[in-house]
Amino acid sequence: MKSFITSSGVALCGLVTSVLTAVGVVLVQNLTGFNLFTLSFWVVLPVGAFLVGFAAASGYFFGSLYFHKKPGLLLLLQMVLIAAFTQLLIYYMEYSTLILDDGTKASEYIAFGQYLDLSLTKAHYRIGRSAQHDMGEAGSFGYWMAFFQFIGFMLGGVSVYVFLSGRPICQACDKYFRPLGKKIKSFGSTDDLAAYYDVLYTHPVVSEPFSQMIRSEYKVKTEKGSFNLTETLHGCPQCKAQMIEHSVQVFNGQDWKDIDQLKRQVSMPETVNLVSVFKA
Ligand SMILES: [Zn+2]
Repeated sequence: MKSFITSSGVALCGLVTSVLTAVGVVLVQNLTGFNLFTLSFWVVLPVGAFLVGFAAASGYFFGSLYFHKKPGLLLLLQMVLIAAFTQLLIYYMEYSTLILDDGTKASEYIAFGQYLDLSLTKAHYRIGRSAQHDMGEAGSFGYWMAFFQFIGFMLGGVSVYVFLSGRPICQACDKYFRPLGKKIKSFGSTDDLAAYYDVLYTHPVVSEPFSQMIRSEYKVKTEKGSFNLTETLHGCPQCKAQMIEHSVQVFNGQDWKDIDQLKRQVSMPETVNLVSVFKA
């Protein structure tokens, strides 16, 4: 029963953000003529639908964290169903708000099914620089486009799902950890990073040298080969156990790359409370 309530709660959160996203897409389209949902690169790459899917699925993310619901098959199934519903909702709202040149509503003349068929098959897709090559009416290819957009929309949701799967969980209580504090340290070389990363846990976690290291500022100018260490203190909302998570990134001159091998999560012994260390 509890599981049913939390699943419904998460689905409801996803439904709310999906409907809001659909309303947003149609509103922007009616005000500016720009349709984010059908925005594609090289005709078939549904970038806009992916972004819309990501925004729509954000509700699942926050809902799952709030209700402590692990991502599972049920969540994926809900995502597919709600994504299909949202895409239809976008079409339906486009249909019901479409005003013809003479000021009358299109919905007074044609049924939704007819409208959908026309809008998909009569759509014109353009390719090339500044879209100068009109490919003509999409015809039955329009249905494929709608399908590609559905896939893009789903992938937006899946990326939220993957993001959720990476969130740390208290194994004992089966609850998502809550972040209690965060420190970001930067180091200029591998040696400097190692002097922190490899030494920290050689001190007992309740010792002054340990607290001292976490409290200390480590800051260098960002340049090629510099490292960022993100140090997050997590706490279980139920048993209050704490855990320190380390993630390391290296700057390659252009952007930051995660170093997965240096990612680590270290559980603190019971009753250890490091909140004040991280706040300082
Ligand atoms: Zn716990």
